[in-house]
Amino acid sequence: MKRIFSGVQPTGNLHLGNYLGAIRNWVRLQKDYESIFCVVDMHAITQWQDPAELSKSTREVTAAFIAAGIDPEACVIFHQSAVPGHAQLAWVFNCVARIGWLNRMTQFKEKAGKHKENASVGLFAYPALMAADILLYKGTHVPVGEDQKQHLELTRDIAQKFNNDFGREVFPITEPLILGAATRVMSLRDGSKKMSKSDTSDFSRINLTDDADLIAQKIRKAKTDPEPLPSEVAGLEGRPEAANLVGIFAALSDRTRDDVLTEAGGQPFSTFKQSLTDLAVETLGPMNAEMNRLLANPGEIDAILKRGAERAQAIAGPVLDEVYDTVGFLRV
Ligand code: ATP
Ligand code: MG
Repeated sequence: MKRIFSGVQPTGNLHLGNYLGAIRNWVRLQKDYESIFCVVDMHAITQWQDPAELSKSTREVTAAFIAAGIDPEACVIFHQSAVPGHAQLAWVFNCVARIGWLNRMTQFKEKAGKHKENASVGLFAYPALMAADILLYKGTHVPVGEDQKQHLELTRDIAQKFNNDFGREVFPITEPLILGAATRVMSLRDGSKKMSKSDTSDFSRINLTDDADLIAQKIRKAKTDPEPLPSEVAGLEGRPEAANLVGIFAALSDRTRDDVLTEAGGQPFSTFKQSLTDLAVETLGPMNAEMNRLLANPGEIDAILKRGAERAQAIAGPVLDEVYDTVGFLRV
């Protein structure tokens, strides 16, 4: 059986990178896979979150999933803290994963910054919780952006070591699905940094909640270089900001970067940025409207999350029992 699990942290509003790298692919995959999508609030608190903001963001991310086209009937949509098995399995995985494995994780190094001793233990153990999220449902495929590739490799290592240590094939070896023309959307201000919810500059990203004016402003101010666009992908070499805008354009219009450059090669950025703005507004506008409609009805969102948590729990319960039996935890 093919089962997808994926998640987004309620650390702020979703941006174009989350959409093109992850959520849009979920929308496309939901027809072919049993799908479970999670708002991972327990991951979010690995770095400080204002409690009121965290609750608000949890609803916003849920609304974004639905507004993007995820069907809450066909898929399970829920928030992580509502299913206790995530934390329970994460503890077991903390005891399976090796410190050396976690020490290699680049996301920890980036997020912890210079003073690693001051980072939370949770931030260090983040990948073990992520493995628990996926394997609590025996997820076979995980659609994510490029930045999560290393964490997924760790999930595979944890599954493999658990199966080997206990001599039982409890967990599948999960496959990443990194799909589309924009698997790593970069910051609009710095072509060497990925677009992130947690970036302090709002002008580094296009949020799914930005209106047409703000999208236009952000794209107009996006960093570029003085040369016009090249007519072939090879000409993007050494031009990270140009490569990023072309990648976004290709992903939004569902074309290859070659196709885009065949048409736009030779254009100055002022012209290209205008077309990119039109395209972004056309895609995000309807989603924005639907998100606002949903957010005006928080009861509707909460009902979806509640029902989703019950459905998630129904799958997770027997898997956790199997793990507890395998480990030798007495169930009386
Ligand atoms: P934070 O800065 O709080 O980590 P984030 O923007 O990285 O937020 P996450 O919730 O960590 O978002 O990730 C949600 C999903 O979006 C993951 O599948 C991740 O791979 C994907 N994703 C995040 N940023 C990008 C990006 N810039 N380009 C493509 N995919 C991305
Ligand atoms: Mg992230």
